[in-house]
Amino acid sequence: MPSSPTPDADPAEVDALDAELSIFGEDPRPAQLSVWIRSRAWRLRGTLTRLGATAIAAPLAFLIPPHAPWGVGVLAGGLLLARRRWTEHLTVASFRGHCPRCGSDLTLAPGTRLLSPHAMPCESCHHEVLLHPGSVASSRAGRP
Ligand SMILES: [Zn+2]
Repeated sequence: MPSSPTPDADPAEVDALDAELSIFGEDPRPAQLSVWIRSRAWRLRGTLTRLGATAIAAPLAFLIPPHAPWGVGVLAGGLLLARRRWTEHLTVASFRGHCPRCGSDLTLAPGTRLLSPHAMPCESCHHEVLLHPGSVASSRAGRP
């Protein structure tokens, strides 16, 4: 992904979520998670941009011999990117958490599309940790 994955994101719109980290057989641990909650308009704009770019690039790629694989590849890639944008409901702004098994720090880059649950590897014990984003915490409560 680009170095500035959320250029159109307003830092003031960051929401803190109650989040929990879990591994099978271990007690869950709380995590600090801040996200951008993506609006339907933001997702639709990004999806249509990707579909438009695909509609332009796929016929051009089809001109390159051996034709079909390039055109189909660009079309499939464009549809995949459009689908990813449409399903991006939450984007990570910041994350801080520790592995429930070994206690080492876990990292999640800002701009990451957040799934629910979001699987992430622990670099220390090599187990897969699941991040469960919860509901919006008190950050919106203090806003006018
Ligand atoms: Zn670990």
